[in-house]
Amino acid sequence: MAAAQSAAQGSTDRFAERRSDRHQVVVVGSGFGGLFGTKALRRADVDVTMVAKTTHHLFQPLLYQVATGILSEGEIAPPTREVLSGQRNAQVLLGEVTGIDLDRRTVTSQVLGRETVTPYDSLIVAAGAGQSYFGNDRFAEFAPGMKSIDDALELRGRIFGAFELAELGASRGENVDHLLTFVVVGAGPTGVEMAGQIAELAHRTLRRDFRAINTREARVVLIDAAPQVLPPFGAKLGEKTKRELEKLGVEVVLGAMVTDLDERGLEMKFKDGRVERLEAVTKIWAAGVQGSPLGKLLAEQCGAPLDRAGRIGVNPDLTLPGYPEVFVVGDMISLDNLPGVAQVAIQGAKYAAKTIVGRLEGKPPKEPFKYFDRGSMAIISRFRAVALIGKLRVTGFLAWLMWLALHLIYITGFKSRVTALMHWAVSFIGRGRSERTTTEQQIFARAALARLDHGAADLVSDPGAYDAQADAAERSRREELEATAREEARLTDARERGTRTASERV
Ligand SMILES: Cc1cc2nc3c(=O)[nH]c(=O)nc-3n(C[C@H](O)[C@H](O)[C@H](O)COP(=O)(O)OP(=O)(O)OC[C@H]3O[C@@H](n4cnc5c(N)ncnc54)[C@H](O)[C@@H]3O)c2cc1C
Repeated sequence: MAAAQSAAQGSTDRFAERRSDRHQVVVVGSGFGGLFGTKALRRADVDVTMVAKTTHHLFQPLLYQVATGILSEGEIAPPTREVLSGQRNAQVLLGEVTGIDLDRRTVTSQVLGRETVTPYDSLIVAAGAGQSYFGNDRFAEFAPGMKSIDDALELRGRIFGAFELAELGASRGENVDHLLTFVVVGAGPTGVEMAGQIAELAHRTLRRDFRAINTREARVVLIDAAPQVLPPFGAKLGEKTKRELEKLGVEVVLGAMVTDLDERGLEMKFKDGRVERLEAVTKIWAAGVQGSPLGKLLAEQCGAPLDRAGRIGVNPDLTLPGYPEVFVVGDMISLDNLPGVAQVAIQGAKYAAKTIVGRLEGKPPKEPFKYFDRGSMAIISRFRAVALIGKLRVTGFLAWLMWLALHLIYITGFKSRVTALMHWAVSFIGRGRSERTTTEQQIFARAALARLDHGAADLVSDPGAYDAQADAAERSRREELEATAREEARLTDARERGTRTASERV
């Protein structure tokens, strides 16, 4: 709020101009809510400005496949700018929203220390949710979550890197059990999918690639404090999934709460008070979500309630109390116990867009938002999945085929669909993983950036301080480079390369 106010009162050159006299809609976020909300306004007589902190739209349900080397990040995260290039009334602005001023109707965003204030007539906030470590944020350094491309690439580096370090250690006769133990915390759909894929990786994909270690001896442990896996799928599908995971070689530990976590392993506490330590270098956090901090920022201004997960309570028409021009959709909201799934965000954003258009056309207010549940799915391993569609419970190969069809439909862009299908063939029919490239920077650079006071902004010049023309040293360097280039071109054009010049012949 303070940031929003100071920016709003500050110099006007930070203000993005109104793009026209048309109704201005600002959309925060380029996820499912942000993208589908923007697209739903493509024929409307409005200007849409999407402000998002990443340049891509992210298909989160397939992040675990990037982390385990099946898909490339480009296949699940196309550039938003490209996706919206054909939508003439839409503009994309890169920036992390740090302030929303409900009274002034402005959105303040920052990128590398540069601030922009964008005015709106209507606002759709779809900033999603982040990982929750239940108050133990220090766990994040040793157990990345699964929310972003950075998370997935870091995990990919950690998982494949652990096998490499184990090979090195084993060839020197060291104990490498801690390197060959992979722990996934949280037995919801993401945890189940992640555990299943690491087990396939160890037991199937990598089994011929190493000499000093037997990757089939790797332990994959799935831990949850709850008494069953996949609670939202019901007891029967949960039990079935647990059995399938165990067949794959995953150890499922239920009723265990992770109480401590460090570089080498973690501690878990059972209901009877027993505490056990597990030595495991690679840990993945797939438990708990926390609504975007923008929820709190909005709640403080409009008095809407926040639930325990930081999600903001909205009116039945997805608007904020006292601010009918502001809609909040997707993972950020708390309404009628709606689940945090893509369809809630998509349907909510479309509803908000239709309401905005309806108001401009003078139509009467729409009925309250109603969510249509299209079901839930989780993949356990290749050819094995579970699906819950209404009262219908589908398991095994049929559920896997349904998963395949649905994900192909929802992956953005024809090119990504084709390449994803090819990568799935490589991984599911064959034994390979097309995307095994990892770098040291993927694993450690994020932690290094987090240690800087202002993150990446500390690595770039102050906005406005850069003045290349005035820099004499740079000018003389430029002249030197230009002279070198002229001489290079002259040598080629005069065919003087490889021939001795007159002065050299003397
Ligand atoms: C690993 C994983 C697996 C999942 N699997 C499934 C599944 O199988 N099926 C299913 O239906 N759902 C699944 N979900 C849930 C689904 O992805 C979410 O419900 C959905 O993405 C919510 O959409 P959203 O628009 O609310 O948020 P998001 O899609 O998370 O989008 C939020 C957007 O806001 C941007 N943003 C955040 N903060 C700011 C800020 N301050 N400034 C600017 N931009 C900001 C983000 O960069 C992002 O673009 C999964 C989620 C995860 C993490």
